[in-house]
Amino acid sequence: MIELVSAERCITCDKCIKVCPTNVFDRGEDGIPVLARRDDCQTCFQCEANCPADALYVAPLTSPLPDDSTARDEDHLARTGLLGSYRRHIGWGRGRTPGALRAVGPPLGPPGPEGTSPPITS
Ligand code: SF4
Ligand code: SF4
Repeated sequence: MIELVSAERCITCDKCIKVCPTNVFDRGEDGIPVLARRDDCQTCFQCEANCPADALYVAPLTSPLPDDSTARDEDHLARTGLLGSYRRHIGWGRGRTPGALRAVGPPLGPPGPEGTSPPITS
C-alpha cells in the first residue's frame, strides 16, 4: 500500500501518476502527486520503482497503516533507507545494477539435442 510521497524529494515528473494502474494519484496544484484514491492501491510497487527521485514508499502490505506508523514518517523512512528502497533493490536508477543481471536461474545456452535444451522460462 502506498504510504508516503515526499514533497521534499519529488521533482514533479508525473511518472508515478502515469504508471499507476489504478489511478491512485492526482497531480496537485504544485505538481506533487496527491493520494486521491489510496484505497485503490494494489501494492504493485510500480510508482516506487519508476520514481527517479526515490520520493515514494510503498509498504509491502495490502491495507493502510495507521497515521502514526513509522511507515508514514518521512524522516524515519529516509534515515532507514526505506524511501525508494524497492527501486534500489530491483537495481533501477543511475549507477545501479539491474536486478535481472543478478537473477539466479537455469543456465542459458545454445539448444542441445532435442529435449535437452534448457528452459527459457521457469
Ligand atoms: S503501488 Fe501500484 S497501485 Fe499502488 S499507488 Fe503505486 S502504482 Fe498505484
Ligand atoms: S515519480 Fe517521484 S518525482 Fe515523479 S512525480 Fe512521482 S513522486 Fe514525484
